[in-house]
Amino acid sequence: MQQILEAIQAGASGDELAAVPLPESYRAVVVRKEDQSMFEGMESEDKDPRQALRVQDVALPELAPDEAVIAVMASSINFNTVWTSIFEPLPTFGFLTRLGRESYWGKRHDQDFHVVGSDASGVVLRVGSAVRKWKPGDKVVVHCNYVDDQDHTSHNDSMLGDNQRIWGFETNYGGLADLSVVKANQLMPKPAHLTWEEAAVNALCNSTSYRMLVSKNAAGMQQGDAVLIWGATGGLGGYAVQYVLNGGGTPVGVVSSPEKAELLRDLGCEAVIDRKAAGYRFWSDEHTQDESEWRRLGKDIRGLIGRDVDIVFEHPGRQTFGASVFVAARGGTIVTCAATSGYMIEYDNRHLWMKLKRIVSSHFANYAEAWEANDLIRRGQVQPIMSAVYPLEQTGEAAYQVHKNLHEGKIGVLCLAPEEGLGIDDPAFREQVGEDKITAFRRHGV
Ligand code: NAP
Repeated sequence: MQQILEAIQAGASGDELAAVPLPESYRAVVVRKEDQSMFEGMESEDKDPRQALRVQDVALPELAPDEAVIAVMASSINFNTVWTSIFEPLPTFGFLTRLGRESYWGKRHDQDFHVVGSDASGVVLRVGSAVRKWKPGDKVVVHCNYVDDQDHTSHNDSMLGDNQRIWGFETNYGGLADLSVVKANQLMPKPAHLTWEEAAVNALCNSTSYRMLVSKNAAGMQQGDAVLIWGATGGLGGYAVQYVLNGGGTPVGVVSSPEKAELLRDLGCEAVIDRKAAGYRFWSDEHTQDESEWRRLGKDIRGLIGRDVDIVFEHPGRQTFGASVFVAARGGTIVTCAATSGYMIEYDNRHLWMKLKRIVSSHFANYAEAWEANDLIRRGQVQPIMSAVYPLEQTGEAAYQVHKNLHEGKIGVLCLAPEEGLGIDDPAFREQVGEDKITAFRRHGV
């Protein structure tokens, strides 16, 4: 692995990189099948990713014709790694078993370990015989939409594919590792003005927010729209705020501390709600929601922007969904991609139908959407939201921070990159975009 790293750092050509031998095994962050019952009977918040996420060597799988082996310079923590590490709502080994039944190549994924991670930046080392557009030496980022391109259902919107999966969550050999094996159609060019770790944090959350707000496949935000963004300095929300501002809309950002509120204002979001300070109690007890609290949120929004929001950017789920449906404007849209606080949702349907609102679902992004979202990062129009960086050995701690909501934006993880700050190929463009803008979250982070 050292030889690979030295070659990359020395700026080796594609041919030179292709000649460096690949190791038989590599360092990776895994959960193990034998651990999948370790938290049985515990409350979600007490389940500790640090106990389940382990660093071990795994064998490098055989390369399929449509795949590439990449040297992973950096990766990031996504909430799906938190879910995998606490084995909720289900252990992810069932996904690997199902993939294993599909084909010879699928079988490689069905192991008693699961290499996690759904983001990566790095360098292509090898490509399979069917790969046309990528070659050793290409600097790339990886999106996590894992698509069966021989399935007809994948050919309108690939997120509608019957076999659509999320790499590193529903497949093995994810990005929190020194190497990864990915499909060639997961690759996108690395933004040249960013470090490895800044480049690694974007693809999953940025693409998801792009589809939710910008794409015609979900909310299809218009200029002038007001958008309520839950978790506005979180992984999804930090990109959502930028999309609303870039698209001529008005973001109303919800956060849970004065520090996060300050960061949000630094990003240019003027309408900020600190949900902790406001003390909303949408649920008066486990079974009952309190409409007067929904109304109070609606009043607070009107107090800030003088009207209701056209779109609600939803992901907390059970705790907030009733309020989200209530506060959306007549004819407005609630776009949802997740349910962090619980997936059995309750809302008052009268507020939905009588006011002609709609609930729209969204999930990651197809290749075209991920590419468009990545292009916006490459052009400096959307910034990475990396607030902290951990070494691969401390992935458990990094995932713990996300699980406990102690973080802001995204946490980067150094894989082969020996230190922070490497990988910038276009310093002039970085200067043009502005160091302050690129590192806004990092300066707030730890
Ligand atoms: P994140 O970085 O943890 O940010 C989420 C933010 O939501 C938190 O920082 C918190 O912000 C806010 N929040 C959490 N619980 C809340 C509650 N009960 N009420 C109100 N606000 C709450 O996570 P993320 O990366 O943005 O992901 C959020 C969710 O989306 C996760 O469940 C993840 O699995 C899912 N997701 C789905 C997709 C997809 O493709 N379907 C893609 C990415 C993520 P404050 O404390 O500051 O309010």
